[in-house]
Amino acid sequence: MTTPSATGGAFRAAHGPTPVWRELELGAIRVHVLHHAAEAPVYGTWMVDELARHGYALSYGTLYPMLHRLEAEGLLRRDERVEGGRVRKYYAATSQGFAALAQARRLVDELYREVVAGVHGERDALPPGSMPDKDDV
Ligand SMILES: [Zn+2]
Repeated sequence: MTTPSATGGAFRAAHGPTPVWRELELGAIRVHVLHHAAEAPVYGTWMVDELARHGYALSYGTLYPMLHRLEAEGLLRRDERVEGGRVRKYYAATSQGFAALAQARRLVDELYREVVAGVHGERDALPPGSMPDKDDV
C-alpha cells in the first residue's frame, strides 16, 4: 500500500524536485544572489557556501550561468580583482538590480503572507501592473 506522501517521497528521491518546484527554487536562488550582491560584492565560492548554509546544494555549473545571466540582464555588474596572484570575479547589484530586488521583495512578501503566514493582505496587495514582465527580471 502506498500513501500519497510516500509516492511523492519516492518520486523526489528518484527524480529530484518536480520541474515546477525546481523553477521556484532557482527563482529563490536568483533573489538570494541579488540580495547579497546588493549588500556587498560577492564572488562564486562565497555564494556557493552561503547558499549551502541555507540548504541549497548548488554547483558552479548552475551558479556561474546564473551570475552571467543576471549580468547580461543588467542586474549585476562584474568587477575583476587580483587577489593572491589570481583574478577573482566579484558581482555587485546595479541600480536595475536594486529595483528588481525591490519587486522581488514585494512578490515574496505577498506569497509568504498568503501561503506561509496564512494572512491574506488585501490592504497591501500588489497593485495591477506592478509586476515586471517575465523577461524583465
Ligand atoms: Zn544568505
